Amino acid sequence: MPRKTFDRKAVALQWRRTKIIATLGPASDTPEMVAKLIDAGVDLFRINMSHGDQATHRKTVRHVRRAAKAAGRHVAILMDLCGPKIRVGNFESGSIQLKNGSTVVVTTRPVTGKPGLIPSQYKSLHKDVKPGERILLDDGNLALRVVAVKGKDVTCKVVEGGVLSNHKGMNLPNSKLSTSALTAKDRADVQLAVEADVDFVALSFVRHARDVQQLARYLKRLDSNIPIVSKIEHPDAVANIDDIMNESYGIMIARGDLGIELPAEKVPLIQRELIQKSRQLGIPVIVATQMLESMMTHSRPTRAEVTDVAGAAMLSADAAMLSGESAAGKYPLQAVQTMDRILREVERHQWQEGHFAIESIADRAQKFHFVRESMAHAAVQLTHDLEVEAIIVPTHTGTTARIMAAHRPLPPAVGVCSDIRVCRQMALHWGIVPVYEPKARGRNWRTICTHISKQCRLGESGHDVLLVSGFNDDPVKNEPVLKLMHL
Ligand code: PEP
Repeated sequence: MPRKTFDRKAVALQWRRTKIIATLGPASDTPEMVAKLIDAGVDLFRINMSHGDQATHRKTVRHVRRAAKAAGRHVAILMDLCGPKIRVGNFESGSIQLKNGSTVVVTTRPVTGKPGLIPSQYKSLHKDVKPGERILLDDGNLALRVVAVKGKDVTCKVVEGGVLSNHKGMNLPNSKLSTSALTAKDRADVQLAVEADVDFVALSFVRHARDVQQLARYLKRLDSNIPIVSKIEHPDAVANIDDIMNESYGIMIARGDLGIELPAEKVPLIQRELIQKSRQLGIPVIVATQMLESMMTHSRPTRAEVTDVAGAAMLSADAAMLSGESAAGKYPLQAVQTMDRILREVERHQWQEGHFAIESIADRAQKFHFVRESMAHAAVQLTHDLEVEAIIVPTHTGTTARIMAAHRPLPPAVGVCSDIRVCRQMALHWGIVPVYEPKARGRNWRTICTHISKQCRLGESGHDVLLVSGFNDDPVKNEPVLKLMHL
């Protein structure tokens, strides 16, 4: 065993394992703020297509690409499609008051709202709801019960009153929606995603695997294979999760809508289950929404929020996401810095304990992936037993890096790729440090590893790295190679 003279902990923990996603919006989409957020540790930016126009989104993409290049970082962009997110329309005076027990009409007629009349932007509402079903408004803060449907008017009783303002969201937890997950607006936005060359597209309100297939087909028609992240925010998605995961590059636990569509107390256990399932399948999982919500208006988070962010790291999610906090809050930079500090604190402890994930996934591996998962598990065990300083993963499509990441290895894992897009996509994966190596193919891997080791400050002369390559989702093509290198 070579004598380690350098600070292993400092080497290992120079990178945060849990990735940070920050949503961009009016509070943050300037070139200066994007650069600051990258500097504070953002790995991936989310553009929420529910807000803003295409010209603004194009500009935002340019800001991110420029700032990432200047910082020398592989930062990804995820375009989050609205999907069939149902919203109310506009009101004559911007908002109306809903009184408990009063009667209101929700209509799909093209009207401006006023007291007693709520316009619905979802034009099939009157076809999809039935008497007795609930209509939730403004993130579930307000509730109506359907009394009768006549033509395009849905008469409701106000169960939970309050102020309802323009464009607030509407959820129909009891109704079977007839709408497709990919709306006309989404199609236009997907065209923009392809033109702007974003790295991921997130599909909202996925209910079945066929929703994901529909988007994949549409991307193919546009000659694109942008990876799809399915947002799990509807009870049907939870019920159909295995099929949805099989069709998706990754998933986002979109706790905002999920906690409206389902009782909020169901969300924590669903979150834990979905993180475990994603790791077993070797796909990335994002924990999203209200992580540091109070930082919209305060420079410090609540203790409960700190515990929530820490919990995502303890459960070993690939990424934690900021929404309004970074898009429209008063403290976007502080929110990212806070999230970074919390995640690093947990990871320091995990590293000290000797494992980043409480549960191994190898023993829960599905039969189909048994060989792949056993080999990945063995690779991780080797890094532990041999005290290697890093894992170096040559990868063409990112698959080997993705599979190694799912096993949450203790040393940092450097994903080396000659495709700049794949480098950016690796930014989403737990613990993967993307390195662009344009001339990797056909070159001597000892030379490349020595070069990377210096570039990434992996250790002094005499350290070991484990070179891992050849994993594949297709069992026939899965030919992993593990090679120990003494550098
Ligand atoms: C959510 O509901 O948690 C979410 C991420 O989706 P959106 O912000 O698009 O409503």
